Amino acid sequence: MDIITIDKQGEKVRLDDVPTTPPKKADREAAKRELDALGEELFDLQDLLWGARMHSVLIVLQGRDTAGKDGTIKHVAGYLNPRGVSVTSFGVPSEEEREHDFLWRIHRDTPRKGELAIFNRSHYEDVLVVRVHGLAPESLWKERYGHIRDFEEMLTEHGTLILKFFLHISREEQEQRLLDREKEPRKAWKINAGDWEDRAHWDDYTKAYEEVLTRTSTKKAPWTVVPADSKWYRNLVVARTLAETLRPYRKSWQERLDEVGTKKKAELEAWRKSKGG
Ligand code: ATP
Repeated sequence: MDIITIDKQGEKVRLDDVPTTPPKKADREAAKRELDALGEELFDLQDLLWGARMHSVLIVLQGRDTAGKDGTIKHVAGYLNPRGVSVTSFGVPSEEEREHDFLWRIHRDTPRKGELAIFNRSHYEDVLVVRVHGLAPESLWKERYGHIRDFEEMLTEHGTLILKFFLHISREEQEQRLLDREKEPRKAWKINAGDWEDRAHWDDYTKAYEEVLTRTSTKKAPWTVVPADSKWYRNLVVARTLAETLRPYRKSWQERLDEVGTKKKAELEAWRKSKGG
């Protein structure tokens, strides 16, 4: 099994059975070329999305510490026009956020029509870190899977295309990345003792992620498990999945833009006539 996309609620996933490394046949140089081509296509698609104003796009990035959420944003969003992209990182909730329901801060940053929003962590933390560290009673977080499905369904009814990525790294790769932060002076600023603390909860997080995948995968808001031990392959899978999701809309966005163009030409023509030109 290579990359898996789960688009059905109830499907059981065992993360230990899903690879964290690229398939043997994957070639780094070919991947780089494909990523560049996908980047150009994504820039183009994003332009149509922006102009047509029919849909918005929401990308949710989740993963354990060091899984590469920031790197994915840098590399994949780097191909896009910053004009229509927003990135929101969700850290520990502020007092004001805690005093609202868990989706309040999330809803504020969902994309408007034409925009593409990337969430670095998200509402899923409320059934991950909250569950693993017992930050809320079980009776509260258990209900959240259903709330999340309903919330995402509402967004999709409003025209939001939702893609959710779990960046899947191995325990060994995470250790290596954490140690690199100590070895390389330029990376030392990222050191956080809490990451080592969370590592001790590896199995609890695995269980929590598996439940997220099983309970919140839907046709319109699927999860993709991305093998993320190799950064080049991780970026390729995310870009490819995004392009595959947006591609089917190209025609309708283009048609909408053609309609708008025809209408604007007619308006200009009428204006010229009114001026006697
Ligand atoms: P990252 O590890 O995401 O690159 P970071 O280490 O710089 O980022 P912040 O962005 O300040 O840290 O915050 C991330 C932390 O916030 C994570 O430990 C995450 O589990 C925690 N967090 C996010 N959402 C919640 C939540 N709803 N409740 C409690 N903790 C949360």
